Amino acid sequence: MMEPVLSAEVMDAARGAQRVAVLTGAGVSAESGIPTFRGAGGLWKDHRPEELATPEAFAEDPKLVWEWYDWRRSLIAAAIPNPGHRALAEWERSIPEFTLITQNVDGLHHLAGSRRLVELHGNIWRTRCGGCGRMDEDRRVPLPEHPPHCSTCRGLLRPDVIWFGESLDPDVLTTATEASNRCDLFLVAGTSGVVEPAASLARLALQSGATVIEVNPDRTSLSAIAHHSLAGRSGDILPRLIA
Ligand code: NAD
Ligand code: ZN
Repeated sequence: MMEPVLSAEVMDAARGAQRVAVLTGAGVSAESGIPTFRGAGGLWKDHRPEELATPEAFAEDPKLVWEWYDWRRSLIAAAIPNPGHRALAEWERSIPEFTLITQNVDGLHHLAGSRRLVELHGNIWRTRCGGCGRMDEDRRVPLPEHPPHCSTCRGLLRPDVIWFGESLDPDVLTTATEASNRCDLFLVAGTSGVVEPAASLARLALQSGATVIEVNPDRTSLSAIAHHSLAGRSGDILPRLIA
């Protein structure tokens, strides 16, 4: 059952938590104007993200994939953190053990002030060289060329994000797994739970005895396992939950 209001039980769970793990997905940035993959505005020039965010698509047409990333970067550059991001950053400062695990690549959690942050899927502002492996950070300037090349070895640069079919950085995954195992409250917001390891992290938390709270306007594959499914937008619910 989806719960429309924040019950006393939910508020008590949030207030009493000492070890918190939060998992966020594209939905928490939707209110900042960044489209989710599966919601309205997810398509670009009739291409589905699943057709573009893959190593195969990049090998076949790096220019096309970079044009799509350039478009997404321009949306993200214009976006600012919303009340959901800000509430999580504030919550972190009052909880002894706190880990924010995000699937988002937009950097808005960091911009909102979150520091105990695990970016599972990388960051859209970083590039990685296919030749020498060099990483370059976030200059937030338009790309000099499509596709861009490494200034050291002239190898092809790619966005430093995890694509469909690629595995996560093992250290990053370990940090996320440990936080999910240790927490007494696991909050999952704005994710469909379709992309792994979202569902497995929630299950881990559940198995280790944590209370699991979901925030999403729609039902997801995680709704059935969560103790509380709060039906609403993260920008509305999170500031109230954390108040
Ligand atoms: P998804 O697109 O599969 O699901 C988004 C979820 O957010 C849906 O369940 C939807 O009901 C929910 N939602 C929509 N508006 C919401 C709101 N205002 N408040 C709370 N929830 C809301 O996204 P996903 O599960 O995060 O996974 C897709 C993959 O796409 C991830 O790997 C991520 O890296 C990538 N992605 C990232 C961004 C970003 O960085 N902002 C944007 C799109 C996709
Ligand atoms: Zn290089």
